[in-house]
Amino acid sequence: MGEFDSFKYQLDRPLDVKLSEFQRNDRLKHLIFAAQLTPGLLEKLRRMADMIRHMSRTRQGNMQLKNLLAHRRAMLYFTQPSTRTFLSFMAACQILGITCNEVRDTATSSETKRESKADSIRMFSSYFDVIIMRTMISEFSECCAYLMNQLELQEMRSVPIINAGAGADEHPTQALLDMYTILRTFTHDYSRESKRSRFIELQASYPELVAGPARKTYLFCGDMGRGRTARSLATVLSQYEQVRMFFVTPDHGELIMERAMIDKLRARGVEVHEFNSLDAQHDGHPILAQTDCLYMTRIQREHNSAQVEAELGQIDLSPFKLTPARASVLKTYAPILHPFPRDSVVGEIPTSIDADPRAMYFRQARNGMWIRAALLVHLFDAAEELMLIYGQFHQ
Ligand code: ASP
Repeated sequence: MGEFDSFKYQLDRPLDVKLSEFQRNDRLKHLIFAAQLTPGLLEKLRRMADMIRHMSRTRQGNMQLKNLLAHRRAMLYFTQPSTRTFLSFMAACQILGITCNEVRDTATSSETKRESKADSIRMFSSYFDVIIMRTMISEFSECCAYLMNQLELQEMRSVPIINAGAGADEHPTQALLDMYTILRTFTHDYSRESKRSRFIELQASYPELVAGPARKTYLFCGDMGRGRTARSLATVLSQYEQVRMFFVTPDHGELIMERAMIDKLRARGVEVHEFNSLDAQHDGHPILAQTDCLYMTRIQREHNSAQVEAELGQIDLSPFKLTPARASVLKTYAPILHPFPRDSVVGEIPTSIDADPRAMYFRQARNGMWIRAALLVHLFDAAEELMLIYGQFHQ
């Protein structure tokens, strides 16, 4: 990465050694890796997201939220295509009164005058209070976090960095909204915003179903080799007890889950099995019938070389499509997730599934707005103030 070569030593260290550098006591300083999303933090963020969505229903609640971070400004530096992540971060900022600005194309910035990326980022930190970034370079946001830490040590201005998608590697805030959706599906909590708990209704029909993400089977289908969202979500889920993961991918070296990741998941106690079709069986029963939560993904064609494109053109993708017949084998409560976009040509989830009550992907994307707002509240250390205004909102 040239200009960030001085961070090579930091980059090469094992992940667990790095993580403390992105923390400030019990709070995140930067969000770079999905591994930073611990169960405790997820629970805190879930509660805040529930409060924010509840308050947003009324004009009074909206006005109170809009005041919460009205003194903050955010830079959205998105030089890799994005629809949902960009817009939901922008909407999250708007909910909290944070002013936003954006750079989506370096052709419109001084990078065309040979300004280094490091200088650009430091300039953003002069004008803004948080930098939310997505680039094709996997380690870029991590390097920016080191740059900010270095500035802080020199007692210069430093701001939080949020990784909003890094190359084919990591997408921690997608894992955050996926987890929020999973937690909302499998929770006992009677939040103040809803009069009933869907989970308790579920438990009446499935007494063996336990609350929370633990003791469940997650089926991931599609491109595990380049799909950063599946890997980030699997990393977060591996922190919970007795989790089983089924990875269903075409049998191609680029698309299967990498060995190192499977070894890491197994070392954490996850039971992992790999398959080449959604119709596969495990222990004599269809894998779909054993699934508590289905995570569909698209084939990430933008990462294909010409040779891989030609090879993938020969592969029959029909075993990786969620047809209505396959959906009928899934458990009646199993949420169907997809990080989106779905591939309208391949059709891994045909639109005929959209009306299925288990199809959560549009709600999942909306959840991203609430939980990203909660993340901003957390990063700006405004959780107590949020509780306070939530209390007033209820009086
Ligand atoms: N939107 C997700 C991402 O940015 C998923 C995808 O593109 O397939 O990784």
